[in-house]
Amino acid sequence: MNIGFTTPGHERIGDGPAAGILLDDVCRDFGDKQAVSHVTLEINKGEFFSLLGPSGCGKTTTLRMLSGLEYPTSGSITLDNEEITDVPANKRSVHTVFQNYALFPHMTVAENIAYGLKNRGLDKKEIRVRVGEMLDLVELRGQENVSPGSLSGGMQQRVALARALVLKPKALLLDEPLGALDLRLRQHMQTVLRQIHREVGITFVYVTHDQGEAFAMSDRIGVMRSGKLLQVATPEDLYRKPVNEFVAQFLGSSTRLGGIVTEVVSNGRYAIKLPGSGIECECAGAAGMGEGDRIVAVIRPESIRVHTAGTAEDGKDMVGLDAAVDSVTFMGSHYRTILRNGESVILAHIPSNAAPVKAGDNLHASWNVRDMWAAPAEKEA
Ligand code: ATP
Repeated sequence: MNIGFTTPGHERIGDGPAAGILLDDVCRDFGDKQAVSHVTLEINKGEFFSLLGPSGCGKTTTLRMLSGLEYPTSGSITLDNEEITDVPANKRSVHTVFQNYALFPHMTVAENIAYGLKNRGLDKKEIRVRVGEMLDLVELRGQENVSPGSLSGGMQQRVALARALVLKPKALLLDEPLGALDLRLRQHMQTVLRQIHREVGITFVYVTHDQGEAFAMSDRIGVMRSGKLLQVATPEDLYRKPVNEFVAQFLGSSTRLGGIVTEVVSNGRYAIKLPGSGIECECAGAAGMGEGDRIVAVIRPESIRVHTAGTAEDGKDMVGLDAAVDSVTFMGSHYRTILRNGESVILAHIPSNAAPVKAGDNLHASWNVRDMWAAPAEKEA
C-alpha cells in the first residue's frame, strides 16, 4: 500500500517536535463522582498509546482533558514539556478524531481537508500541496471532489484523519474512531491507522473498550477501571503479566484458579497453593504480594495441553489436573474446549488439526509452570 510521505523530500510530520504527554496526578470530578482518579501517566513521543477499559471507566474523560474539551479538577498535563492544563482546546497542538467523523457534508473531501489550513490563512498553493499529501496518505486520491456523504464509513473516517493530520498536530487523539464500522472494515482500518502512524511519526492516543483493537495497534496500553489507571504495559506484558485479576480477565480469555501465596520466594516469585485443583508449585507473579494473600493463577488457553487421563505424568515443571470435557466449540484454527473438575474450570485451545475431543471425555489438562502467573484476586464484595 502506498501512503504518503514516501517520496524523497517529504518530511514526516513527526520529524518536527513530537509530543511527549505527561499527566501528573490528574483527577476529574463531576459532582460527587470522580470520573478520573489520580492518573499519572507518561506517553512517549511518537508512541501509539491506547487507553482501554470498560464503559464508564474514565478513558474518554481522560482523552477530553488532553484535547482541552474538559479540564482537570486537580493535577497537571504537559505536552512536549509545556504545561497545557488550563490551555483552551483551540490553542493546543492536538486534534481529535471522533467515531461520528464530524465532516462538513456540504463540502467536498478536499475542502474538508483544507478547512483548517484556510482558517489559518495559508496560501492556496501550500494548501493544495498539503491536501494532496494527505489524500496520498489516506489513499483517497481521485475522491477529492466528491461529497463525504457518498463515501463508505471507512473512507469517511480516512477523510476525518486527513483533516486532523493536515494541521500537523503534536498529538492525534482518537476517540473510538472505528466503533461505527463493521468488523472487517474495522480490522482493515486498524492496519491503515497503524501504517499512517508509522508514516507520520507523531503521538497517537487511542481510546477503546475493545481489547483486540488495542492489541492490534498499540505500542503500549493503559488499562483503566473506575477512574483509575491499573496498569500500563506492552500488549504482551499485559497479556502475560497482568497486575491483578481484573486485568487478566479483561485482556483475553484465561483459566483462573483461586489459591493463596504460601511463601514469597523473591519479589515477583511465589510458592502458591491452589486448593481446588490440589496444585502446589512455584511461579512468577505480580510484584508486592505477601504470604497468605489470595491469588488467581492465570493460564492462557494456548498454554494448556490435554491428554487422555492416565497417559501423562506431571513433573517438576509441569502441573495439571484431571478434568472432564464440558463443551467443545469449533473456532476455525482451534477448538475452544472447557473442562471442569469441581470448582476448577479449565479453558484450552486445542488446535483444530489435533485429535478431536468431545463433551464427557475424561482428560488430564496440564501446563508448564513458566506459563502460569499469580495475580492478586479481586476483593470479595
Ligand atoms: P464509554 O466507553 O462508555 O464512553 P468511558 O470509559 O469513556 O466510557 P467516561 O465517558 O470518561 O467513561 O465517563 C466516566 C464516568 O464519568 C462515567 O460514570 C460517566 O457517567 C461520568 N461522566 C462523564 N462525563 C460526565 C459529565 N459531563 N457529567 C457527569 N458525569 C460524567
